[in-house]
Amino acid sequence: MAAERIYLDWNATAPLMGVARDAMVEALAMPGNPSSVHAEGRAARAAIEKARRDVAALVMADPAHVTFTASATEAANHVLSPVYRMGKSRVTLGRLYVSAIEHPAVRAGGRFAADAVSEIPVTRTGVIDLDALSSTLAAHDLSAGLPLVAVMLVNNETGIIQPIQEIFAVVKKSGGLLVVDAVQAVGRIPLSISELGADFLILSAHKLGGPKGVGALVSRGETLMPEPLVRGGGQEKGHRAGTENLAAIAGFGAAAREMAAGLVERNAHVAALRDRAEQAMLSVAPDTVIYGRGEARVGNTSFFHLPGLKAETGQIAFDLEGVALSAGAACSSGKVGASHVLTAMGEHAATGALRLSIGTDTTDSDIDRFLGAFAKIAARRKPAGQAA
Ligand code: PLP
Repeated sequence: MAAERIYLDWNATAPLMGVARDAMVEALAMPGNPSSVHAEGRAARAAIEKARRDVAALVMADPAHVTFTASATEAANHVLSPVYRMGKSRVTLGRLYVSAIEHPAVRAGGRFAADAVSEIPVTRTGVIDLDALSSTLAAHDLSAGLPLVAVMLVNNETGIIQPIQEIFAVVKKSGGLLVVDAVQAVGRIPLSISELGADFLILSAHKLGGPKGVGALVSRGETLMPEPLVRGGGQEKGHRAGTENLAAIAGFGAAAREMAAGLVERNAHVAALRDRAEQAMLSVAPDTVIYGRGEARVGNTSFFHLPGLKAETGQIAFDLEGVALSAGAACSSGKVGASHVLTAMGEHAATGALRLSIGTDTTDSDIDRFLGAFAKIAARRKPAGQAA
């Protein structure tokens, strides 16, 4: 009998939680449209509002400030808009500033023209260069409109945490708005939108045990809101038209509620497993390079380079051993390209890096299986400089 597969690619997507599945099945049986006034409609509406409260609670926001979208990518395209509304007045944002390590959902620049997007470098430690941000924003031409800054809280490849409060202080000095992509942070570290200082947070359900294909844009207030991306009916208070994906939203809410309970303890357990894996990797192959090891990182991610092993080859080798993990950024051809995150950090892992990302269901024996595969693969690799 084939050995059970081990799933260690939680940053790509987390397995659906049982509570999320149950909430989805229950919602799928609801016949009503959440916008209808009859009892069936009101029941569907109640399920959405419950989910809204649960998602809001996870980031300590006001439920009235949560807009459900079809993905975090859609939320990014919604909020990265050069046109905002303050009541009936139009407010123009002149330029978008994104960090060099953003996920493509943000890096693509949303609705800004390519020449209205600037990249802010990161330091060798993988955090945004605050001096560069400061001087770039000081040079911002306010006559074109306010600056909009978008940074991620946790990087999806390295797990490194950005100093959002310091970034916020710099952005506020410039009079700008701050969007934080919290997709890889939510459920992994305690989060409060007002403590962070973010004007907007971008969330995705499927990284925290909810279903794929649902996300949210959370705002700190309601005064200044982006021009809607999806226009039509008045759903989501006019911010996002279209009948809501009731089952997906209900699943998102259930996963958020479950994650909020015991968040710190759960993540301490995950971090202990990850740390054990890294210590063992280094003792089996002391030349392993682990990115961000000395930095503030979430506890579930390990991004590493094994000299002499192409990430693409490594990923396949782990897969054949029954272990699912990721190589650095995969481009559309299916080949593994150089990681823009490592390049931005000034790292030259020409043969790429592998990402182990775990979660609350990961067990000690999963880590043992990973380490068994790691030892075999590390022993087989070619000497450095002759990567296979
Ligand atoms: N932002 C980050 C940091 C991510 O890791 C991802 C997903 O990989 C996204 C945004 C996009 O999320 P979604 O799949 O919901 O569009």
